[in-house]
Amino acid sequence: MSTLAIKDLHVSIETEQGSKEILKGVTLTIKSGEIHAIMGPNGSGKSTLASTIAGHPRYKVTSGTITLDDLDVLEMSVDERARAGLFLAMQYPVEVPGVTMTNFLRTAKTAIDGEAPKLRTWAKDVRGAMEKLKIDADFANRNVNEGFSGGEKKRVEILQMELFRPKFAVLDETDSGLDIDALRVVSDGVNRAHSENDMGTLLITHYTRILNYITPQFVHVFVDGRVAEQGGPELADELEANGYDRFLAPAQA
Ligand code: ADP
Ligand code: MG
Ligand code: MG
Repeated sequence: MSTLAIKDLHVSIETEQGSKEILKGVTLTIKSGEIHAIMGPNGSGKSTLASTIAGHPRYKVTSGTITLDDLDVLEMSVDERARAGLFLAMQYPVEVPGVTMTNFLRTAKTAIDGEAPKLRTWAKDVRGAMEKLKIDADFANRNVNEGFSGGEKKRVEILQMELFRPKFAVLDETDSGLDIDALRVVSDGVNRAHSENDMGTLLITHYTRILNYITPQFVHVFVDGRVAEQGGPELADELEANGYDRFLAPAQA
């Protein structure tokens, strides 16, 4: 059993106008096996939270902590975070020209585990995971994300999650731009990681639709860099019915 704990996290970015605080005191604890949904309007800081957990250098933590069990995540490099079992599926996955999926997956898996995966079982694992996520076998020889559609990029993020077997996954709007088939395939992948690996998940989403396929035990409404309200799945139903208006300042609503 592991715990990812975020405590009173404040994060700023440097802009041309100076430093701007985006996260204004975020506190959130996720345990192995739990699914937490973060829902919130555009610009509320959801991706900033995801990028900060992953260690993006642009985001400066001015106070607060992120720990993974007894490890100080904020002291760790991006690579160390991945080796410790943190995984981020980005809202906008990047293309990696000149690197095939096969090479990328094997190199990343080796870096994360600290040893190369066994050749014979690895090829089979990759094929099996691709089949489950309905990714065509041809993708193995294509360059990472190059020319992939939005939905294909999201499936490939989940493919990495399946193969790397993280302790905790942060999925940043992995549902946006997916048709119903892809949404189901992606959700199945997340649900599998929960039942098979006891993964903990922070599912960031703008819409409630994915919550028909992945059931969070905890829902956090994120507004203006803070958790404005926490609840169970019923909170997502309320958002579905009423939107974010009641959480927004009158000027914003
Ligand atoms: P969300 O994911 O909830 O839509 P973001 O974390 O992307 O929100 O953005 C939160 C706020 O921080 C927004 O006002 C956005 O414009 C600003 N912001 C985030 N990243 C950057 C950046 N790299 N440069 C400038 N502003 C940023
Ligand atoms: Mg956004
Ligand atoms: Mg975002």
